[in-house]
Amino acid sequence: MVAWLTVKSVAIFLGLASTAFCVATIVLAVQNADLENDLQDALDKIDALTVDTTSTSSTSTSTSTTTTTANPNGPTDDTEPGSTTTPGVGGDTTPSAGTSPGGETSPSSSTGSTTNPIYPTLPTGLPDPEKIEWRLPTELTPIKYKVYYHPDLTTGACEGTVSIQFQLNAITNLIVLHAKELNVHSISILNMMARIRVAIDSINLDESRELLLITLREVLSMNKAYTLSASFDCDLSSLVGSYISNYTNADGVDRSIISTKFEPTYARQAFPCFDEPALKAQFTITVARPSGDEYHVLSNMPVASEYVDGDITEVTFAETVPMSTYLAAFVVSDFQYKETTVEGTSIALKVYAPPAQVEKTQYALDTAAGVMAYYINYFNVSYALPKLDLVAIPDFVSGAMENWGLVTFRETALLYDESTSSSVNKQRVAIVVAHELAHQWFGNLVTMNWWNDLWLNEGFASFLEYKGVKQMHPEWDMDNQFVIEELHPVLTIDATLASHPIVKSIESPAEITEYFDTITYSKGAALVRMLENLVGEEKLRNATTRYLVRHIYSTATTEDYLTAVEEEEGLEFDVKQIMQTWTEQMGLPVVEVEKSGSTYKLTQKRFLANEDDYAAEAEASSFNYRWSIPITYTSSINSEVQSLIFNHNDNEATITLPEEASWIKINTNQVGYYRVNYGSEQWAELISALKNSRETFSTADRAHLLNDANTLAAAGQLNYSVALDLISYLESEQDYVPWSVGTSALATLRNRVYYTDLYTNYTTYARKLLTPIVEKVTFTVAADHLENRLRIKVLSSACSLGHESSLQQAVTLFNQWLASPETRPNPDIRDVVYYYGLQQVNTEAAWDQVWKLYLDESDAQEKLKLMNCLTAVQVPWLLQRYINWAWDESNVRRQDYFTLLGYISTNPVGQSLVWDYVRENWEKLVDRFGINERTLGRLIPTITARFSTETKLEEMQQFFAKYPEAGAGTAARQQALEAVKANIKWLAANKAQVGEWLANYVQQSSVTNRIQ
Ligand SMILES: [Zn+2]
Repeated sequence: MVAWLTVKSVAIFLGLASTAFCVATIVLAVQNADLENDLQDALDKIDALTVDTTSTSSTSTSTSTTTTTANPNGPTDDTEPGSTTTPGVGGDTTPSAGTSPGGETSPSSSTGSTTNPIYPTLPTGLPDPEKIEWRLPTELTPIKYKVYYHPDLTTGACEGTVSIQFQLNAITNLIVLHAKELNVHSISILNMMARIRVAIDSINLDESRELLLITLREVLSMNKAYTLSASFDCDLSSLVGSYISNYTNADGVDRSIISTKFEPTYARQAFPCFDEPALKAQFTITVARPSGDEYHVLSNMPVASEYVDGDITEVTFAETVPMSTYLAAFVVSDFQYKETTVEGTSIALKVYAPPAQVEKTQYALDTAAGVMAYYINYFNVSYALPKLDLVAIPDFVSGAMENWGLVTFRETALLYDESTSSSVNKQRVAIVVAHELAHQWFGNLVTMNWWNDLWLNEGFASFLEYKGVKQMHPEWDMDNQFVIEELHPVLTIDATLASHPIVKSIESPAEITEYFDTITYSKGAALVRMLENLVGEEKLRNATTRYLVRHIYSTATTEDYLTAVEEEEGLEFDVKQIMQTWTEQMGLPVVEVEKSGSTYKLTQKRFLANEDDYAAEAEASSFNYRWSIPITYTSSINSEVQSLIFNHNDNEATITLPEEASWIKINTNQVGYYRVNYGSEQWAELISALKNSRETFSTADRAHLLNDANTLAAAGQLNYSVALDLISYLESEQDYVPWSVGTSALATLRNRVYYTDLYTNYTTYARKLLTPIVEKVTFTVAADHLENRLRIKVLSSACSLGHESSLQQAVTLFNQWLASPETRPNPDIRDVVYYYGLQQVNTEAAWDQVWKLYLDESDAQEKLKLMNCLTAVQVPWLLQRYINWAWDESNVRRQDYFTLLGYISTNPVGQSLVWDYVRENWEKLVDRFGINERTLGRLIPTITARFSTETKLEEMQQFFAKYPEAGAGTAARQQALEAVKANIKWLAANKAQVGEWLANYVQQSSVTNRIQ
């Protein structure tokens, strides 16, 4: 207990903490909170009388709190001392002095340390606390929480109390809930109906299992209401649970705020709770804030009452609807807001930001209002809460978090300012807002029953965000952007042995946090997109509504969702069986097309990016790595989409076309989650058609052909000359989506040949492809969103390949900017100008000037652009100094630390510096961020992405062997090793062939140039 804690009730509550293990049961019958002191006296006396010094913790393996309390009050009952609210959770009686020894059964005469004549004999077959690994036992279900929280913004200390009303599903004498890094002072269990306290035998806070285990002297009965009360100190120093964060306001004053981040397993770091998604309950949250200084508190619900007690004000919020613990949230800040009402509803919508940035909330506000109206219509289910707040948090470990009614964001994902934000920034804001708002239904209203079905939450939100943004910006081509933003990246990751099924069995917190990965999000989204295409937009939407209504305020599984889809009338195939082949197996198929006359024979096999993996023993799979594939296709003679199902049980499928068909293109718009490989003649026909007129194929089809050809070639399943030939059509490409695939294919190739003698010919080839589009887009920015996205892609690509005139432009604009820093380049070319400008200028003076601008910058997006700019310098010692300075939190925020190291490592000069630094400082990094910090784990594959030698591979293996504990980075390490092995293999297998093709190309194009 600390002195500043002025709330009477908490003081009393903590004052009750005693070392007594054995606490007598007490009859409680006080009608008035004024009698609390009398009550405490009585309880203290009883505790003193009944203390049993022979009791010890029955689970002794870990640190444990060994104090129990005799406080029968619901802890939050007393948080409004001036109010007339009746204390007691779920009951309307208040505690009183008075005792009643024993339980309802006669005293037992059992043996052992717990023997006490006033307690009954425990029945046999009760749960063993040691047998619990991660999942909570099922005997208890929480109903209501009252949480009282007092974070001190000055000292960073924090105290709280929680009372949880729960019911029994089966008799037990064991209460198990979650708690982590909490200092629990006192615990009491109250039988609400009989108004008696339940005797506690032992309490064990097991840090390794993150469990709080309470063994009782007697069994709890069915059909009775119980309340567990606990008081605790908490830690505000990490970026999860509840935490303190600072920002500098417009007057240059440091301001502290409190925020929370509970998903997936961090609510237990804020207060003891039943921290599993299926254990939904209603929350009444009270947070104490400083009384003045513009501070206010936000939580899931609107404020119900406020009580001013001198320097602190206790703010109590209306009780929530039933929800999972990971969705609870509160924010203490002095932020300001802009507000509106969602059209056609009374939902109050506000977007909060630090006062100096509040003008930047308008875009998010407009987007949120539009997207909310769209979702209410789409789901055909109204929004469940009376208000919705969106808050920009200066330090946030994720991009954003969908806390029900109080969505929190990184500043870069919420704030938009025309003068600093690029089109990329703008789209990011729209996408993240649309994603989190989709969760208000899909995830919050209906939640996955357990984390193994996380894809239901994240896949759907990642799918729906495109619909939400499309609604607001039809001209952004979101349907096709899906292909490059979600599908292509995950197809790459899913093509290794280190992948995982989107539904798999997970239990520990490390496994759970690691599960928030690209597979869960993007493959989940891609499968929903494929399903929508299979059953039709209307049916998917109806099924979604049915699913939400059926499981409202509850949880559900993948099976439940597919059942809802299956119930749609008129489906001519077994949706469930088809989808199971995708959800239960990792990986993806490649469909191989063999033409014979006018018949096309389709076969399938698992697609693996590394040829050697075909020989390796694959993890067993329920469908033996065969999928039921929705095949769609168009041909040279029919642009109407045809479809069929290639069943996983069938060896092949066939398509017959009229003989005059010159080509067939399978997987229309790449809606299916699979790759397609053709015979060389068919590829030649496709390439010829593409070069003839790129518009023969849709934007997504062009992106698909580029992506498949390059990936298949890199995997040794297609002759490289086909892929290189296909890429060369880009000379005539004008659109953003295919160019995005094109520049990324060029970057991959560049990285592969970077350290070889192929590099010169390669750059000649790549620059030739880029020249027409670079000359078209120029450095002059216009209003068109997709053109702006195209511009930044192709200019970055051209600069990275040493395209002379682009680099010169970048340098000119960079020098102009440094000469008068207040006049910045247009936000839509700023990244290129900053990065390649500094790379080319490459002086300590320029670096120092940008560093100063970076330190002084308050806009989060601009700061990130400057942070990235500084990584471009080609001087090793400047980069090393940057790495060293980044450790200091006043230089680089914790949330940006790994992003920065990632940036530096993509600079060839910085790569080895970061690699050495991370290996040498691994223990320090783990110490600061925790082994279960996802971004720490994911740094490894980023650093090693371009490694392509056995020596580097050995370095990695040695490093992993030295620190075998990878936590949430386990899969990332595997992916990193796989990627490097693939790089090594790539050079051995392809260098000669690619070299020859490039040499030919260069020779021919120079001949052609001469003729012209
Ligand atoms: Zn999400």
